[in-house]
Amino acid sequence: MNSKKYPIVVIGGSIASISFIRTLRETGNNDSVLLIYGEDRLPYKRTKINKNMVRGFDKDDFIIADKAWYQNNNVELLNIWATSIDAQNKQIFFEETEPIEYNKLLLATGAGSVIPRIAGIEPAEMHSVQNAADVERLLEVASNKQRFLIVGGGVEGIETADQLIRKGKEVILASRMKYPLQKLFPHEFIQPLEEAMLKRGVQLYSGVSVNSVERVGDHFATKLRGDTIEFDEIVSSTGTLPNIQLAKSAGLNTEKGIVVDEWMHTSNEDILAAGDVAQHHNGIITGLWHAAEHQGKLAALNLFDKKEKHTLPPYRLKTEVFNLFLFSAEYEKLVPNEYEIVKEDEKGVKRWLYFKDDKLKAALMLNDGLRAKQYQQALMEEWSKKRFKEELPLQAPLSFNFSPSF
Ligand SMILES: Cc1cc2nc3c(=O)[nH]c(=O)nc-3n(C[C@H](O)[C@H](O)[C@H](O)COP(=O)(O)OP(=O)(O)OC[C@H]3O[C@@H](n4cnc5c(N)ncnc54)[C@H](O)[C@@H]3O)c2cc1C
Repeated sequence: MNSKKYPIVVIGGSIASISFIRTLRETGNNDSVLLIYGEDRLPYKRTKINKNMVRGFDKDDFIIADKAWYQNNNVELLNIWATSIDAQNKQIFFEETEPIEYNKLLLATGAGSVIPRIAGIEPAEMHSVQNAADVERLLEVASNKQRFLIVGGGVEGIETADQLIRKGKEVILASRMKYPLQKLFPHEFIQPLEEAMLKRGVQLYSGVSVNSVERVGDHFATKLRGDTIEFDEIVSSTGTLPNIQLAKSAGLNTEKGIVVDEWMHTSNEDILAAGDVAQHHNGIITGLWHAAEHQGKLAALNLFDKKEKHTLPPYRLKTEVFNLFLFSAEYEKLVPNEYEIVKEDEKGVKRWLYFKDDKLKAALMLNDGLRAKQYQQALMEEWSKKRFKEELPLQAPLSFNFSPSF
């Protein structure tokens, strides 16, 4: 059997792969590319889907590039789930289609939601917000259901809670964490968020585990800290795990993610990996949009030669929820007692800046959203205390309007 062969194949249709293809073309490579991905629409900005539940969206909303872009860039699209890879014969397999051969392969398969095991409910009955289709399903049930239990106190859980509250729904947010966003901020930063959530009617249960639920007629009930909580639907937001099944089938070195070197190469010389599926030095999986974009670019630059090393620049998480702007960069990586911490708090703006040898290493910020890019630049360039004070003095936000889409 003669399978179709492509010089370059990419599996996973999202920002790492689009950035990879964009960089190939920008650097003069015109080899035809086959882009394989298991979703039902053109690759889109995943970051938007759970932040626009009030507004709603169509299939073409948030696409990263339109159809013409793929045609103009000699990219063939294949919307199908790949099931395994034979790295020795350089073949990719599918359930119902003939295998495909590659010369070079990029794995940009991202991450999938972890759906917790909860007695009394099937995983398929729970919602997640990982893909646009998941959010569409949630929106469909939200049209005639009122009470939502969100399990998980991370960014996605809080953003989803914000949207459901804005849609006039009742929200119970239950999480094992001591307080929401615990991995990204100390509690002092989160107190205003907790207050804002309670004010908007969110029932907040931190430090709890939802282990079982009971069916009561057409809805569910569970006990949280002695309270009986009734709800119609569960949204699971308990984190993600890299999609490494294909890499495993290919015999690549995998741990939590696909282990890559600083050139984004895997343990096989013809297979690279980038984005949420890639595991870097010290076991780091970046899990952020701009990080995936950067890695896709590096994978393209290093596809044939090892040209540009990945140095894991600082990335930030920013979110706008319950009328607050929150920014956290590098906080998770801090080693206790090694930093001078400059704490500032005035007129609703709060920031903690972590310096080591007078270089900015991490930053937390509340409500200074219009200058978020400058905080990011300060981190990239490791500004000194003096420079930070001069160029980014603490000031009340000039204006901070939330667009109706949030
Ligand atoms: C709801 C939500 C909100 C987010 N908000 C933010 C934010 O505000 N800021 C931020 O920085 N980051 C955010 N993130 C994270 C960000 O979206 C990811 O870091 C980014 O999308 C990673 O891109 P990626 O290219 O690695 O892969 P992904 O976007 O994870 O896409 C992987 C693709 O691979 C496909 N795939 C996987 N396995 C196979 C297979 N076997 N066969 C075929 N196709 C396959 C999947 O279907 C998917 O299309 C958010 C994530 C979610 C889910």
